[in-house]
Amino acid sequence: MIEFQQVSKYFGDRAAVKDLTLHFKEGAFTVLIGTSGSGKSTTLKMINRLEAHDSGTIRFAGEDIRQQPLLALRRRMGYAIQSIGLFPHWTVAQNIATVPQLLKWPKARTQARIDELMALLGLEPELRDRYPHQLSGGQQQRVGVARALAADPEVLLMDEPFGALDPVTRGALQQEMRRIHQLLGRTIVLVTHDIDEALRLADHLILMDNGEVVQQGTPLEMLTQPANAFVRTFFGQSE
Ligand code: ATP
Ligand code: MG
Repeated sequence: MIEFQQVSKYFGDRAAVKDLTLHFKEGAFTVLIGTSGSGKSTTLKMINRLEAHDSGTIRFAGEDIRQQPLLALRRRMGYAIQSIGLFPHWTVAQNIATVPQLLKWPKARTQARIDELMALLGLEPELRDRYPHQLSGGQQQRVGVARALAADPEVLLMDEPFGALDPVTRGALQQEMRRIHQLLGRTIVLVTHDIDEALRLADHLILMDNGEVVQQGTPLEMLTQPANAFVRTFFGQSE
């Protein structure tokens, strides 16, 4: 579904991502994990062209993403990120409706979709008309995920979407993501540095360090057949 071929990205003369060759499979839940600064967010942002790659090729559904009109590309991908906040002067409902409104959905369909997503993500109906500053951090993050899901995109890109949550809410949202994934069969790419989260959610796990892939595989493969000492240490295994 999404293919990277020898993709590199530089900031100044420093490579954030080096010669990355990757395949994000259609319908798979892929998790990018790694140390801070290893290039996870950069990799994710290159998929919907929030960052431009300097060399190599990225294909989405077989076509070079540079050949695809930017808006069309982004509409096929929902994007949720911890630090890109909600629109502060829009209510919860208006935030969730961002993409449906751009797509000029009929009002009734948009309203029904807002209700559906709020229920799906455990947001109480009375939060509908609140503004982001009137929500807890966890509620804001859920609204961010709801907004990304609103127009039912083919691909869901998520960068630490549950970062600021308490363990209980985080666990509930992880379960919700798995359920949504199974229900809708969407292609999901999630960035996290939480190992438990990665192991729990991933069909396919990609471990990055210093702009490169150290190892990829199923969680079980990574745990039972670590490629080197870094992988073993990363997953907290001694010996
Ligand atoms: P974290 O877990 O801390 O979020 P990350 O794996 O997401 O880290 P990236 O944000 O992809 O890491 O950054 C990879 C490298 O590129 C880092 O060395 C970072 O400092 C650098 N970098 C990222 N964005 C920029 C930018 N806009 N300008 C300059 N350097 C950048
Ligand atoms: Mg990051």
